[in-house]
Amino acid sequence: MGQRLAFLLAGIAFSLASSTPSSAQTIVLKAARLIDGRGGPPLEPAMVRIVGDHIEQVAATLPVPAGARFIDLGAATLLPGLIDLHTHLTDRDDVHWETALTTTTPPEAALWGARNARVTLMAGVTTSRDMGPTWPYVDVELRKAIEAGAVPGPRILVAGNYVSSTGGAGDARQFSIYLDVPFVRNLADGPEEIVKAVRTNFKYGADFIKILVTGAVLSKGITPGAQQYSDAEIQAAVTEATRWGRPVAAHAHGADGIKAAIRAGVRTVDHGSYLDDEAVAMLKQTRRTFYVPTLALGAYIEESDHVPESEKARGRIVNEIAVRGFKRALAANLPIGLATDAPVMPHGLNAREIEYRVSLGEPAMHAIVAATSLNAEILNMQDKIGSVTAGKFADLIAVSGNPLTTIGTLRDVHFVMKAGVVYKDELSIRPKTQ
Ligand SMILES: [Zn+2]
Repeated sequence: MGQRLAFLLAGIAFSLASSTPSSAQTIVLKAARLIDGRGGPPLEPAMVRIVGDHIEQVAATLPVPAGARFIDLGAATLLPGLIDLHTHLTDRDDVHWETALTTTTPPEAALWGARNARVTLMAGVTTSRDMGPTWPYVDVELRKAIEAGAVPGPRILVAGNYVSSTGGAGDARQFSIYLDVPFVRNLADGPEEIVKAVRTNFKYGADFIKILVTGAVLSKGITPGAQQYSDAEIQAAVTEATRWGRPVAAHAHGADGIKAAIRAGVRTVDHGSYLDDEAVAMLKQTRRTFYVPTLALGAYIEESDHVPESEKARGRIVNEIAVRGFKRALAANLPIGLATDAPVMPHGLNAREIEYRVSLGEPAMHAIVAATSLNAEILNMQDKIGSVTAGKFADLIAVSGNPLTTIGTLRDVHFVMKAGVVYKDELSIRPKTQ
């Protein structure tokens, strides 16, 4: 081989490597402990070999191949990246959504969405299901920007434009009849309009459908306990979404709405506040619908300076009932998905939901499994995320202490890796150089 040809070949090899920077990179992580997300005893110590965006091998000790990057996290505990099944990343912590409709713009929501996505990722959430923006489809653009690497954020699944009935929880026209919000067209009444809303959502990039089956706490519409969509309307949403191979998430507080949503075959009952024994029995039987409560937000609604007193009053009633529903589900050994409804609690405090659930009697390991492998199963992404096992995306976080003994350590996530890329590292012990 002539020198010139060898030089050319070397150049080709170099350009291939540089065009796919992380695809071949090997990283070896080491920590005192690994909670792998599947619920078994922790591995102590633990090492994880990552190649490109995937986990290649997990063991107590592993060799560090030549050329690999070695990250020693010392006494830390490694866990899978957390999954939050209910966020609104493009909504701000300090602006009520009804106020946002009259005082903010979609570009503002997009910019704050980028900020909130970064804050959420840095808090250890590597995947989130985003349950609908105030300004329709801003979430689709946020997802695209994250996927393109333009802004750091969790892997997100988006609802696009949540579907509400006239006068229901998501009705953006809760003002005078003379005041319109022309850019928000999310009302659908009757099965035909719902089918059209589902198709429109998927046409514009939604990954799933969010339908408001009952009233809401932070709304002036129908009360949280009341069913706002008929059984036939909910069924129309599920039937149409199923044709597209995509799921429906149902916002549901009241017991009638919860049961109608379960019967229709939605994937998740979000909030599920008035969960009663009959609903628990129905959920145990179907196994296709999951209960996803949002519990820690009560204290934040109470403290908020922008939530009106009428909605705080709704919150007090609903949250107390919701805690009882959660304890009922726990006692029945129901799988319980984990979600926050951020920014009802501020973005970045996502792990507080885990902490709160533990304070209500859930074992720490059970709550961690909910936030990782169970949530992955609910998203039907169990082949890709939710546990630190070979073949999964390399989504890993680390905390200083042991969350099994002190769940509050999850408040301070010091290391974040998503798909093999390190976004935060405040722990690694760097080898001393002379
Ligand atoms: Zn929500």
